[in-house]
Amino acid sequence: MLSKKGKFTTARLLSEYEHIFICPICLHSMQVVDLKSLICSNRHCFDLSKKGYVNLTTHALKTKYDKKLFEARKTISDKGFFEPLMARICDNILRELKPSHQTIKILDAGCGEGSHLSDIQHKIMAQSECNLLGIGMDISKEGIHMASNLPSKTIWCVADLAKPTFADKQFNFILNILSPSNYSGFQRILQDQGMVIKVIPEARYLQELRGIFYKSTDRDIYSNQKTMELFKHHFDLVDIQRVQYGVSMDREDIKQLVHMTPLSWGATEELKEQAWSRIKGEITFDFSILLGSRSQEANRR
Ligand SMILES: [Zn+2]
Repeated sequence: MLSKKGKFTTARLLSEYEHIFICPICLHSMQVVDLKSLICSNRHCFDLSKKGYVNLTTHALKTKYDKKLFEARKTISDKGFFEPLMARICDNILRELKPSHQTIKILDAGCGEGSHLSDIQHKIMAQSECNLLGIGMDISKEGIHMASNLPSKTIWCVADLAKPTFADKQFNFILNILSPSNYSGFQRILQDQGMVIKVIPEARYLQELRGIFYKSTDRDIYSNQKTMELFKHHFDLVDIQRVQYGVSMDREDIKQLVHMTPLSWGATEELKEQAWSRIKGEITFDFSILLGSRSQEANRR
């Protein structure tokens, strides 16, 4: 029953906003047919799942982000450990909203299990009158499958960031939170006055875990200089905001954190055990939010 409802709600949303999408195979426009498929003018067909999301990939893609990781991230999100970061992202969005905006379209590129986008949507709708549409995309079917359970006005899609999925200049905001980017793709689909909000980890992010997993390796020292340079190459950097805070976590929270973070990839079970038995007290969360607008050069194109 739930999945049926989910499917129809998403199908209706998709019909309303089908013009956002282009076919990842031939780049032609797409149309929702019979409330069950998104089909391009060359008849390439992408079905809606039972849960109501659309899969726009042409073949199964492997990713290291698995169900266990997404479940852990949802637990960490639900407990509010990302709250100060989410609040700051919302402040930036709210500040940009103008009365002339009709529907605000926010894309979360690399949304995973969707908890960040869903949280941001709820916060913004509680503080503004705007009509808000969320589009969450991720390469992981497992992530999107979980996301489609969330109660928000969102179109969820499995899609490959490397392939064109959206028509030009669609989005007011593109969120890219602790996730890989495709900057030239972002430039193309961002509206002229739109904003890219990218979150990157900073040096002290989860330093308590880093101290255990990366001890005596060259990954012990963290730098995001290259990420920053690349961002500035594609967008006008409007602002950089550092968000740092500590959260108290119990042993069970730290277990979830270890499952959640790619820092633990490649770590032995022994090291993971060490993490949740040794770490006591506060865990450091440390991010930079990069705010970028379309460069003047891009606007002339
Ligand atoms: Zn096509």
